[in-house]
Amino acid sequence: MFIPKNLSVNEKNHLVIGGCDTVDLAKEYGTPLYVMDEEHIRTAMRAYKNSLNSFYSGNGLILYASKALSTMYMYKIASEEGLGADVVSGGELYTALKSGFDSEKIYFHGNNKTYDELEFAIGENVGRIVADNARELDIVNEICEKKGKTAKVLFRIKPGVDAHTHEFISTGQIDSKFGVAIENGEAFEIVKYAKSLKNLEIAGLHCHIGSQIFSLEPFKLAAKIMIEFAEKIKNELGVEISELNLGGGFGIKYIESDTPPEYEKYIEEVSKVIKTECAERNIKMPFILMEPGRSLVGDAGITLYTAGTVKDIKNVRKYVSVDGGMGDNPRYILYGAEYDAAIANRANETADEVVTICGKCCESGDIIIKDAKMPKINSGDIVAVMSTGAYNYSMASNYNRLCRPAMVFVKNGKAKKIIVFKYKPKKGSKTKQGHRQPYTKVKIEKINA
Ligand code: PLP
Repeated sequence: MFIPKNLSVNEKNHLVIGGCDTVDLAKEYGTPLYVMDEEHIRTAMRAYKNSLNSFYSGNGLILYASKALSTMYMYKIASEEGLGADVVSGGELYTALKSGFDSEKIYFHGNNKTYDELEFAIGENVGRIVADNARELDIVNEICEKKGKTAKVLFRIKPGVDAHTHEFISTGQIDSKFGVAIENGEAFEIVKYAKSLKNLEIAGLHCHIGSQIFSLEPFKLAAKIMIEFAEKIKNELGVEISELNLGGGFGIKYIESDTPPEYEKYIEEVSKVIKTECAERNIKMPFILMEPGRSLVGDAGITLYTAGTVKDIKNVRKYVSVDGGMGDNPRYILYGAEYDAAIANRANETADEVVTICGKCCESGDIIIKDAKMPKINSGDIVAVMSTGAYNYSMASNYNRLCRPAMVFVKNGKAKKIIVFKYKPKKGSKTKQGHRQPYTKVKIEKINA
């Protein structure tokens, strides 16, 4: 059983996060409940920033890849910590702006941005458009022409690097829907084409090779290839880049056997590659951007559920059903993602059973953890699933008309409710440990994300 370092166990044998007793949180806010440790997020953001200062003279900016968890409060934290943001849709952009995020520090991504989204982004003066393809460049150029503006663009490049991660989260290879490849000449052609468009300013290059990556080598290789490409466009097209965005993708620990590298090490190593390559190729050292998402919020989050039906199918499998599932965490059904869990109200008990923790949706694949090693779970126990801060809430759905869980940010023993998307208890009705109230007379509270 893996319990992240920012969690502890109190004298009641309850799991504690951000100074809050998780059993109390479950009682107060109901389950399922997303709980985010705010200080842990801020610490991770500072670690990235400090490393950039130490190893690259601070000549860069960390962008929060907000697809990992897009809420106004998250943008507020990122902004307070001096980060920029990567957004991939009009919705994420809207949320960032609504939180008061500085539009100049927003990078707009996406492989199929719509005309409306681009018009919105350009109208709001987003810092950069990360252009995916030539069609998009035409649209950007046309909108800028209409508005009398110039858009600063980066090109999304496929460097042809194998990131050694799951096929669905690999993006740097030629066979990917994102961006243009170097190896077949498309990348060169798009830079050449952009040069001919009068309302664009070429700011630089971008690549993102995939997600949940544990090895530093693919990142170093991608950086090297990108500088080589920068040299090529400088020599052959006279285009000098001022920015290089190396994307995100750093892995986090979901289960005991995961061994992510320290981000500090990553930034140190990649900085070395950039400095060496730039010196050898006579390229001006670019302003560097990095776009971590998962590694800023992933292990800062847990999800609390209440166990319900326990079904022991002799000699087959023991299923423990919880009151959420693929609607709030679709990562198992999407790519067989692995998690670890603990019993929040009996956190120190020995794990001596193997159970499958499943959800309440009408899909057999609605599993949170297959074959989890857990202490015996009883109906009514609070199950805490670890490292659910990234790509859970942001990927959640209302499948089976289940509400998305509420979310609280915890810090110094206090919880701040930022998203309420759940059934409100009927006035006067008693709350049992973590149990939802009857479905009659439910109210959906106002969303305050
Ligand atoms: N940048 C881009 C362009 C991405 O597509 C992604 C994830 O899909 C990220 C950054 C963030 O990746 P991660 O959350 O793995 O750090």
